[in-house]
Amino acid sequence: MSGPRKLFVKSFGCQMNVYDSHRMADTLAPEGFVETDAPEGADLVILNTCHIREKAAEKMYSELGRMRKLKQEAAHEGRKVLIAVAGCVAQAEGQEIIRRAPAVDLVVGPQSYHRLPHLVARAAGERAAGERIVDTEFPVEDKFDFLASPSREKTRARGVSAFITVQEGCDKFCTFCVVPYTRGAQVSRPVDKIIAEASRLADAGVREVTLIGQNVNAYHGEGPDGRAWTLGRLLHRVADIDGLARIRYTTSHPCDVDDSLIAAHRDLAELMPYLHLPLQSGADRILAAMNRRHTRADYLRVVDRMRAARADLALSSDFIVGFPGETEQDFRATVDVVEDIGYAGAFSFKYSPRPGTPAATMRQVPEEMKAERLHRLQAAINRQRAAFNAACQGRTLDVLLDKPGKRAGQLVGRSPYLQPVQIMAPASRVGEIVAVRITEIGSNSLFGTLASAATPGAPAAAERSAMPVLAAQGA
Ligand code: SF4
Repeated sequence: MSGPRKLFVKSFGCQMNVYDSHRMADTLAPEGFVETDAPEGADLVILNTCHIREKAAEKMYSELGRMRKLKQEAAHEGRKVLIAVAGCVAQAEGQEIIRRAPAVDLVVGPQSYHRLPHLVARAAGERAAGERIVDTEFPVEDKFDFLASPSREKTRARGVSAFITVQEGCDKFCTFCVVPYTRGAQVSRPVDKIIAEASRLADAGVREVTLIGQNVNAYHGEGPDGRAWTLGRLLHRVADIDGLARIRYTTSHPCDVDDSLIAAHRDLAELMPYLHLPLQSGADRILAAMNRRHTRADYLRVVDRMRAARADLALSSDFIVGFPGETEQDFRATVDVVEDIGYAGAFSFKYSPRPGTPAATMRQVPEEMKAERLHRLQAAINRQRAAFNAACQGRTLDVLLDKPGKRAGQLVGRSPYLQPVQIMAPASRVGEIVAVRITEIGSNSLFGTLASAATPGAPAAAERSAMPVLAAQGA
């Protein structure tokens, strides 16, 4: 393919997918593809799908129906549009997508994104001969070498905050989860490659990086000394990079929280005091059925240790209600642990079976019961979120200003706890970390006024001990 072409990538699901979408666009840029934010007029549409949430495949097929119409309209205008399906649904459904969705030209699994230029060129040529491509192999080459190699288009910074994949895949095999099947075995990138990518992003103006992986704290990448480094050690190294003021990581498994990670939370001001630590259920019986490999008491011990290391730490989590066999008593144990811990926020979902996973064949909880339990759990989580936000009123928080707001003269940024914070400030201040006095709590955002400039690279230390921590457990 040659000449400028428009690429529209739609991401479903998690941050891993957003990251992958950016890397796909980076990989296709040297082939003349320029990103556009609407599918109308695009030459290549990629749906980057997610298999974690409910009805993922149905959502994808209904989106494909919309894309098929666009493709037909373009054909009437004499334009050819290629449609690709990527991500975990592509990996799981493969040929089935080609069978059910005639408009799709290319199905590409998460391990093959670096082959996109080649696959797209083939699809463009082969389509004329009526052939369509499915690439859902787990290739032996390291896709990251191709996606972020200095010899190709460099990882591009998009704004002041960026994701870096440090680990991919999972060996835990929770009985409800497709990740070990769609993303494969756990693989960690070497430390020097992560540092090179983080340094490039910092040079391009990025102030905050989030290290991501399906099971990020199981990270064990090769360090420059030839040994396997832990995530805690990697975080220390990333914190040394000039220009990076904030570091986050997600998503963690409670069993993989080790001493080095706790030390990182204790020692690194750059590591934001906000930890997403999925619990899934508060009942040991259900945790065992989920194959989570830890008990409620194990989880509480991790929380205690984390809070002892960093007093201003806030927590979020994931919960599944209505897992097969969950009784009212099991469910209450989940609500109890939520009340005990005091979360700043949490995601909660009704269990829905994923084909091919062990839990899909277990005895299911009736749908109405799941809905009713979800309603109760979300009420408890929403109360905690509202209390956490309300406790910020009148306090001064460091805010990384990352983009203009909806109103003229307004900027939006993120607090250390990922809360959106809106202030009036000139656009020239995007990228700065500023101290903001919180004056109003909205339903989705906090509002505030500029206090004084914060120390670049460090959270407002004076505020750390004063930050609200909804801790019934812990230090
Ligand atoms: S640890 Fe997370 S990614 Fe791995 S199987 Fe369990 S839920 Fe899935």
